[in-house]
Amino acid sequence: MLDFLGDLQRTHMCGALRASDAGSKVVLMGWVNRRRDLGNLIFIDLRDRTGITQVVITADAGAELHKKAESLRSEFVVAIIGHVKLRDAATINKNIPTGEIEVVADELRLLNDSKPLPFSPADNEIANEEVRLKYRYLDLRRPEMHENMALRHRVTLAVREYLNSQGFYEIETPMMTRSTPEGARDYLVPSRVHPGEFYALPQSPQQFKQILMIAGFDKYFQIARCFRDEDLRADRQPEFTQIDLEMTFVRPDSIFAIVEGFLTAAWKTIGVDIQTPFPRMTYDEAIRLYGIDKPDMRLPAMSDVKSAFAPENLATLNIDPDLPIVAIVTPNVGELSRKERDDLKLLFGERRDAKVFEDIKRLEKSFPDAVSKIREVAKPNDGDLLVIVAGAPPLSPSFGDRVGLTNTSRTRLSNRERHLLEIAGQFRLALGQKFAAKHGAFDKRDFRFLWVTDFPMFEWDETEGRWNSAHHPFTSPHEEDMPILESDPGAARSLAYDVVLNGTELGSGSIRIHRQDIQSIIFKALGMSSEEQQARFGYFLEALQYGTPPHGGIALGLDRIVMILAGATSLREVIPFPKTAKAIDLMMDAPTPVSDKQLKELGIAVVAKKDV
Ligand code: ASP
Repeated sequence: MLDFLGDLQRTHMCGALRASDAGSKVVLMGWVNRRRDLGNLIFIDLRDRTGITQVVITADAGAELHKKAESLRSEFVVAIIGHVKLRDAATINKNIPTGEIEVVADELRLLNDSKPLPFSPADNEIANEEVRLKYRYLDLRRPEMHENMALRHRVTLAVREYLNSQGFYEIETPMMTRSTPEGARDYLVPSRVHPGEFYALPQSPQQFKQILMIAGFDKYFQIARCFRDEDLRADRQPEFTQIDLEMTFVRPDSIFAIVEGFLTAAWKTIGVDIQTPFPRMTYDEAIRLYGIDKPDMRLPAMSDVKSAFAPENLATLNIDPDLPIVAIVTPNVGELSRKERDDLKLLFGERRDAKVFEDIKRLEKSFPDAVSKIREVAKPNDGDLLVIVAGAPPLSPSFGDRVGLTNTSRTRLSNRERHLLEIAGQFRLALGQKFAAKHGAFDKRDFRFLWVTDFPMFEWDETEGRWNSAHHPFTSPHEEDMPILESDPGAARSLAYDVVLNGTELGSGSIRIHRQDIQSIIFKALGMSSEEQQARFGYFLEALQYGTPPHGGIALGLDRIVMILAGATSLREVIPFPKTAKAIDLMMDAPTPVSDKQLKELGIAVVAKKDV
């Protein structure tokens, strides 16, 4: 028999009771986390949002109460009226904050029961993630998930408060809009009123936030939901949340300071003080030093050791003299056996374009001078692993030659150099992963933030045979590179930047184009005809002509930030209702087919799956 709540009022939260509450009368309400029945004594671990308190039902409480307590099962919902008592020294539980007390029940009301559960929220590890997602309400009852959601709340609040203190307005932008080019497929929403026409869910509020700058709002932010239909990897979700902001009359420095400010506030929520300002490096430097545009600086940078080799050495070793020769140091690996060295070769893979020298001592036997110079440059400590990656001479004209690229500035990287450095960079990361237990650099709470700046303006799309925006088409070119935009697009740099943490891109942004003439040149460089420009962005090109101020902004992935702060390994641990890797909501069971009536109203006919 279930009881009604009646006018019973909750007076305390389970997790908040302490020794100082001893003697107080309390009314607690929550779920039966576990029940232990010792015959004349019944213990209930009662759980609410704040934690767990042990409730005791003694034989003195009377037969009726005792009987009711016997009927309790996991996840039954109860109200306990009782009083707080200090536990005997022998029964104090140091592992929980309420471990010094227990509540002796005088009355128990059974507010609801529960079917037998697919899993118990009291369990720590639930192996089957599909079951967790299907019964997400049970999964979310687990204290660990409560902590993740509470952390998410605190982080979002800290970001909001910081941005508010800096004069930002939080402004909402539409969910039903038109396609925005962030490089993914759109989720479309059919219009009933305009059959055959579609809204798109925003891939980001990009155009709206720029319009808000044109509208004079000066500083905008939004904790914005974005939707991108991409092939999902483990760390992506089709809908995700960005900390999105835009500012007027700014240079990148001002945006960096704001982001550093709110990240400092976010990291404070886990009690960590981060160092600001973050180091900065250009995209080219990042590629030279780490072979990747999102460097993980917890491991040593790579170094170019070409100068260590005499030209005849390079010929003997069949190394391309035009490419860098990269030394990679992985700390504390210690001596490797023959077999372990061979495994390194396998890890590097069989490649035509690059080779690895994984046995530095063998190289040293034939080229002692070169290896001693390499050691001087790369500075490995005793026990560090030192390997060399070099380019193999090309068999055919390079990519850059094929598309007629030249590099205007000598300090810029050629495509072949970049390619080799990227191979080395991937190998550096693979070694870092392989020997993680030995160097231990990933175990520490070491947060290495940095800014990567001056990204290339365009990327060559091999399949489409044209240039794409490396960031998005509203990104301003570097002022110095304006003259080469059309003549040498591959060498042009943009005013785009990323904020990176431990090898993960936390966010990207840019200074935007605020002049219609430049925006038109960029659209043209991207192969968009005037008609296409008008059709897709006509309103925007027009808006740019009504006194658009210089502006710029950035967006950071909130889910990823919370995941890192929570020390979680999947975004799904910090998103209340996430989708699976196949973009399915297992709890709601979405997506689903809809009724013929709905389709008819929308003027949509579904082609059988096999014909798609
Ligand atoms: N809209 C961009 C993105 O979502 C960020 C930005 O440029 O502000 O990646």
